[in-house]
Amino acid sequence: QSLFSGTNIVSINAIIISHSSSDLLPTEGSEEASRHFLQEIVNILLAYMCKLFKRSTKVLDFHHPHQLKEGLEGFTLELSDQPENLEQLLVDCRDTLKYGVKTGHPRFFNQLSSGLDIIGLAGEWLTSTANTNMFTYEISPVFILMEEVVLRKMMDMLGWSNEEGDGIFCPGGTVSNLYSVLLARYHFFPEVKSRGMSAIPRLAMFTSSHSHYSIQKSAAVLGIGTENVLLVKCDERYVGKMIPGELESSIASAKDRGLYPFYVSATAGTTVYGAFDPLNDIADICERHGLWMHVDAAWGGGLLMSKRHRVKLQGIDRSSSVTWNPHKMMGVPLQCATLLVRKKGFLQECNQLCAEYLFQPDKHYDTSYDTGDKTIQCGRHVDVFKLWLMWKAKGMEGFESQINKCLENAEYLFDKLKNRTDFLLVFESKPEHSNVCFWYLPHSLRNLPPGCERDKKLHAVAPKIKAKMMEEGLTMIGYQPLGNKVNFFRCVFSNSATQREDVDFLLDEIVRLGHDL
Ligand SMILES: *Cc1c(COP(=O)(O)O)cnc(C)c1O
Repeated sequence: QSLFSGTNIVSINAIIISHSSSDLLPTEGSEEASRHFLQEIVNILLAYMCKLFKRSTKVLDFHHPHQLKEGLEGFTLELSDQPENLEQLLVDCRDTLKYGVKTGHPRFFNQLSSGLDIIGLAGEWLTSTANTNMFTYEISPVFILMEEVVLRKMMDMLGWSNEEGDGIFCPGGTVSNLYSVLLARYHFFPEVKSRGMSAIPRLAMFTSSHSHYSIQKSAAVLGIGTENVLLVKCDERYVGKMIPGELESSIASAKDRGLYPFYVSATAGTTVYGAFDPLNDIADICERHGLWMHVDAAWGGGLLMSKRHRVKLQGIDRSSSVTWNPHKMMGVPLQCATLLVRKKGFLQECNQLCAEYLFQPDKHYDTSYDTGDKTIQCGRHVDVFKLWLMWKAKGMEGFESQINKCLENAEYLFDKLKNRTDFLLVFESKPEHSNVCFWYLPHSLRNLPPGCERDKKLHAVAPKIKAKMMEEGLTMIGYQPLGNKVNFFRCVFSNSATQREDVDFLLDEIVRLGHDL
């Protein structure tokens, strides 16, 4: 009778039609109207979710920016001076979802964060309803303690003892990485906090050429300078792992040039290839040279939940800090990212400014739970609750089987591609993470010998297929060039709704859209 059944808004609840937003709570006696409105919203969201999980539904209904700006079938982005009625708001909500991208669709392979976990969603709803801020215990007693519990659990999984470890939820892995550089710099040069960069030597930091660009961005933001981020060579035959010997010589040459090496970021699960840097070898080097070792496990951290796959992160316990995004491999709704720090109390020491209007030291409770001064923010969104609730719902075992399944899907795709002549794998070795990188060879290229001429043509193939794919909207996968490799597809699995039939579909779709290029 309502939007749930589908297409038309006419049959909507009479109560909605006769009301405007000023009739909703907190107006007295408005409970009924609010309930009806929210029920309609829930119906819209449920209808969306039911469609989302159906394979016959499109992943997206693509429109160019100018088309969306001009307005489509009664959906306009323009804001007006007059209030809209509730009915119109419901239509707007439905259309907003309609023209968006269904990132929870089992055939969405475009991003490292995907899927739609119903418990996680409920957690996000509750969080928004509570509408509070993470800075003090006085306004977030439950969430602050949950943060402690969840972070402790994650630090246990890194292998840190109870005497060590601290952490914080951050607005994304990029910000977690920024924190790691900030902390490392403060560790060696605490005076930088008050006196600034001119008081300290010229710093050098190290990360692999396949690391996430946020490491370089951190150097730009913190005044270290992107030129002083030295990109260490990777083993290109073996999925792009950092070469320890190259790190060693890179440190030596930085010292020769008068720079002060202080920080290494190893990547556990690179963004494109899904490679794991050799953490123990890198830890040895960091110990030898007295450097801060960060592990960017934004993407790969989830594998710690799996007994089968956690060996790939061996050595992570020796790190000084870790970035781990539950919103990627663990399927927690965006946004949910953490920074974990080995040295207890260090986040507080590095970042605190003791604003007296917020962090009064003479409060009547244990003010060490006023965690807000650990951060570089003031207000902070509650990101912990949805993860805590999902953990309750699944247990470690639930996360483990979900993650194992994603890696099995990757292996299935890899095995399929190995046996095809119309596809070419970027690496012959079995994927360590759920990234599978490959080229598609249309008929016209299949008989060309590998080399410059073929590469030039191959470079144009993925973008052409992607453009058609977006127009048709049945699936989504990303592509990119990397190093000396021309544009290739990167398939990633993080959605537990994805099945083998979806992997089959993806390849069929690429062939259908690209065979005559
Ligand atoms: C995704 C990713 C990041 C950035 O995380 P955001 O949450 O998108 O800011 C950092 N490092 C790696 C290795 C990543 O894959």
